[in-house]
Amino acid sequence: MGFDESVLICDKVDPILNKILTDNGLAVTYDPEITPEQILEKISNFNIVIVRSRTKITKEMIDKADNCKIIGRVGVGLDNIDLDAAKAKDIRVINAVEGAMNAVAELVIGLMFTLARNVKVGDMGIRNNEWPKNEMLGTELKGKYLGIIGMGNIGKRLGRLARALNMNIIGFDVMPIDEEFAKEVGLMKADLDTLLSSSDYVSIHVPLIDSTYHLIDAKKMSLMKKTARIINTSRGGVVDEDALYDAIKNGNLGGAALDVFEKEPAPGHKLSELSNVILTPHAGAQTKEAQSLAANVIAEKIVQILRGVI
Ligand code: NAD
Repeated sequence: MGFDESVLICDKVDPILNKILTDNGLAVTYDPEITPEQILEKISNFNIVIVRSRTKITKEMIDKADNCKIIGRVGVGLDNIDLDAAKAKDIRVINAVEGAMNAVAELVIGLMFTLARNVKVGDMGIRNNEWPKNEMLGTELKGKYLGIIGMGNIGKRLGRLARALNMNIIGFDVMPIDEEFAKEVGLMKADLDTLLSSSDYVSIHVPLIDSTYHLIDAKKMSLMKKTARIINTSRGGVVDEDALYDAIKNGNLGGAALDVFEKEPAPGHKLSELSNVILTPHAGAQTKEAQSLAANVIAEKIVQILRGVI
C-alpha cells in the first residue's frame, strides 16, 4: 500500500532517497537550492522535511510547519535542527548514524598520513617548480599514540583502522567505553588531560553540545606535546580556532587538520595561512558510499514510521 504524504527535500542528497519515497507513493519535491525564506513560505504544505547540512531548520520554520510529522537529517549531527521546537510540536526527528562512520574514520586516517608525511609541502613545491624532497622528511604512524576523544560510532571505527596501522590508542568518553572493544584494539582508557598530554595525534568525535563548546581551548592545547597534531572532523566550535591558530603559529603544536569550522562555509579561513594545517570543507561524509547509505537509511526509516513499525 502506498502513502500520500508530501515530502520536501531541501539539500542535495543521493537520488536513491527520492526513488524509494516515490516508489512508496509519497509526493516528493526535490529543491536542493531552496532558501530559508522559501522554506518559511512553503513548509506548511509538507508532512516530511528532509535536510543534509546546508539547511538549518529553525524554530521559526517549525512554528509554521503545521502539517509536518517527520524531519529527516541525511547524516549524523542534529545541530542544524531546532530539536526543542520540533519536540514541542510533536515532530519526530530522525538521522542516519550508520552512514558516515567509515567515511569519516577513513578521512581521519588520510589526514594523519597527509600531516605525518608533509604531503602538502611536496605537492605545493612541485606545483611551484621545486623538488622539496628534503622538506618532506616525515614520520610514520606506526607506534605513535592516537588519542580519540568520543568513543562512539566514528571514534570506534577510527580505533579499529588505527589499530591495523599499529598505532597505540588512548580513548576518552564521558560514557563508559565498551570493554570488548577496548580489549580488541588494546585501548588505554584515560581522562581528557592525560590523553592530551600523551598523544601524538588527537582526533575528536564528540557532538557539539554546551559541554563540548571549546572543549579543546588554549589551556587544553597547552597540555599537549609541541609536536602533536589535532584533527577535528566532529563539529566546528569543539576546538577554539583562534587558540589553535596561536598554538601552531607559536610552535606550541605540530599542526592540525580541520574538516569542520565554527562558522561554515569558511573559504579563506585564517588557519589556511599556516603550512602545517590541512583544511577540508566539511567533507567527512562526502563519499558515494556514505551518501547512498545515509539516503537509504532515512528513506527506509520514513517508510517504517509511516507503516507504524518504528
Ligand atoms: P556518536 O553519538 O556515536 O558518538 C559521540 C560520542 O561522544 C559518544 O560516545 C558520547 O558519549 C561522546 N561524548 C559526548 N560528550 C563528550 C565529552 N564531553 N567528552 C568526551 N566524549 C563525549 O557520534 P558519531 O556518529 O561518532 O559522530 C561524532 C561526531 O562526528 C558528531 O559531532 C557528528 O556530528 C560528527 N560528524 C561529522 C561528519 C563530517 O562530515 N565531518 C560526518 C558525520 C558525523
